[in-house]
Amino acid sequence: MGRPNKTWPWLVQQVAARERGDECWIDWPWKGCKPEGYPMATRPGERQRSAAHLVLELDGRLRPGFEFALQISCDNPSCVNPLHIRWGTRQENMDEMVQRGRARGKEQRGESNTSAKLTNHLVREIRQRVAAGEMQKDVAADIGISRMSVSDLVRGVTWTHVP
Ligand SMILES: [Zn+2]
Repeated sequence: MGRPNKTWPWLVQQVAARERGDECWIDWPWKGCKPEGYPMATRPGERQRSAAHLVLELDGRLRPGFEFALQISCDNPSCVNPLHIRWGTRQENMDEMVQRGRARGKEQRGESNTSAKLTNHLVREIRQRVAAGEMQKDVAADIGISRMSVSDLVRGVTWTHVP
């Protein structure tokens, strides 16, 4: 808000006049408005938004619906070349991520992180406590894992190698 608005005039000028070729538009004339990754810009009277969204709108390509998200066909998250960006459905975005091998594997989700904290010894203790009548949620809170994790290991869904 306090920043002088240089972003918008630059974008308007680029979309109107710049030759559209293969090269990425990443030569941003300012630094302060470019955080890690996606560049932001401000249309006068609006909040700061994704510069790529604004470029698509300037290019006459309004977002077709809320299920559409920005899709970048080059590997530059800060690129706003209209030839490199378009609206895609989430499914298309997912497909593209998988194709590029950038999809995150399940192992990065939190659940496996919590089970990583467990040890064979703890797993036996948890099973014994639940078997002795303690509530799963109490045991979960006590150990510091999710109730779902407790349930899974009590039912033998996880930690099957621990007898
Ligand atoms: Zn690009």
